[in-house]
Amino acid sequence: MQCPECKSTHIRQNGNRRGKQNHICVDCGRQFIDDYTALRGYSDEVKRECLKMYVNGMGFRAIERVKGVHHTTVINWVRQVGELLPDAYDPQTTPEVGQLDVACFP
Ligand SMILES: [Zn+2]
Repeated sequence: MQCPECKSTHIRQNGNRRGKQNHICVDCGRQFIDDYTALRGYSDEVKRECLKMYVNGMGFRAIERVKGVHHTTVINWVRQVGELLPDAYDPQTTPEVGQLDVACFP
């Protein structure tokens, strides 16, 4: 867990907001919920590296282990990039999370 503002890992739990765990950064005071980092907390550099790994044939679980980015986050990035690059993207080939689990952990 990283602060989306200053990237500090000095995070404290800060109660619940609408059923989601709220966190507060001790260093800068930024408050955020769990899935904030899952969607937009990573830098473009991390995103690019993960996408490069995916393009080079690494599985989502492998990327998760190497980069510490949750595999569903990487899948979302792949989908986002796919929408930007329709010529190189076939939505039929994007596997569902459940299928990935089976594929990566036989
Ligand atoms: Zn912070």
